[in-house]
Amino acid sequence: MIFRTEEKEFKCAVCGETSVHEVIAEQESPTESPDLDMRPAEPVRSGIKYWVSKCPACGYCNSSIEIPVKFTREYLESANYNKAGDDLAGRFMKKSLACEKNGEWEEALKSCMYAAWVCDDEKDAERAAECRRAAVRIYDTHGAVFKENADIKLIVAELLRRIGAYDRVIRDYKGERFGSGLIMAITEFEVSLAEQGNSACHKATEVPGVRVK
Ligand SMILES: [Zn+2]
Repeated sequence: MIFRTEEKEFKCAVCGETSVHEVIAEQESPTESPDLDMRPAEPVRSGIKYWVSKCPACGYCNSSIEIPVKFTREYLESANYNKAGDDLAGRFMKKSLACEKNGEWEEALKSCMYAAWVCDDEKDAERAAECRRAAVRIYDTHGAVFKENADIKLIVAELLRRIGAYDRVIRDYKGERFGSGLIMAITEFEVSLAEQGNSACHKATEVPGVRVK
């Protein structure tokens, strides 16, 4: 199974300092199916720690610290930004805040979900739920942006089910017709899990009649 990283130098888009970061140079596609929230199987799955970089000089977090921003360095010194913490989940939450400031709502939402995946791996259910609630908040705050985005709606169904918001999954998704046949099938599965009060992690291959890689 191929998974290779390499060290590269990046120049921070906020403070201009250069720093060395380990990035994924090469990886094989997973052969197993993803989770219901499209979390990939190995070897991509455990490469999650390379999906976010932090500038050691100013604290800017993003997929790459070279991504331009619409805020100033002062924001990175704010209490709101810094309360997210500096461990891997915290860096994803900081990336989410940076993406929100940049108006990148989808990336902001997904970064909260990535933070939740890190907490899942660390068996920190409470913090994982907090991260998922933050992702749902971004969706609720910017509803118009996601109106036509079936993939994100599906991810939100999964986020809601995982935090036990079963009533909302049933109310918002039961009988809903959107997206492809695949998305419809996964949505129906989400609703049936919600009706059973099931908040566990499931594989996409468990969806009746669906084969996903
Ligand atoms: Zn910086």
